[in-house]
Amino acid sequence: MLLQQEREEIVFFGRKLITSNLTTGSGGNLSVINRQTGRVAIKPTGVDYFEMRPEDVVVVDLDGKIIDGHLKPSSEISLHLGLLKARPEINSVVHTHQVYATTLACLNWEIPALHYLVGFSGNKVPVAPYATYGTPELAQNVVQSIGRYNACLMANHGIVALGTTLSAAFNVAEELELVARLYYQSMCIGKPQILSDEEMEVVTKKFTTYGQPQTH
Ligand code: 13P
Ligand code: ZN
Repeated sequence: MLLQQEREEIVFFGRKLITSNLTTGSGGNLSVINRQTGRVAIKPTGVDYFEMRPEDVVVVDLDGKIIDGHLKPSSEISLHLGLLKARPEINSVVHTHQVYATTLACLNWEIPALHYLVGFSGNKVPVAPYATYGTPELAQNVVQSIGRYNACLMANHGIVALGTTLSAAFNVAEELELVARLYYQSMCIGKPQILSDEEMEVVTKKFTTYGQPQTH
């Protein structure tokens, strides 16, 4: 099976989106690119995450041509391909409807650096203007608004998170939900204090060496 490992990852992290409360039903979608071949594994549209098997995951090229798979790819294919083309240093895109971040997206608010974990995105989380789901306009709005950030809110819709691996992109989505919740809760009882751009630069640099040293 083409891109077997990537397809298995889409199934694994798709289920994790549901069990981690980052999306509901068949909402949201995930993709991983193999940069050597330029092929992309992407979730099929409208499929229950717990019924999806690796062979149901669709393999496309960067122009969206189907290379392998028997189902229709995600309706957000242009969003995924647009981001994978615009950001050659990332290999995975996760899109969700996670509740706290989407609450802020419904207000068309961006998230400032009220907590150091905003550094998973950059010095803030920007918000992209609304466009109908699954349209090239939505893809264009998100590519423009996300710029060099690793996460972006999508007005009146949800979020996207980027990473060098699917696991990293999933992690960005998960930490984004935490900071969105902290922002919502702090705004309920007061005014959050925002970290400076200088401090966020220190934090994002420090993130590059966070965790155990890589041995391979
Ligand atoms: P798909 O099921 O087509 O991936 O769409 C879900 C979604 O979140 C659309 O924005
Ligand atoms: Zn969506």
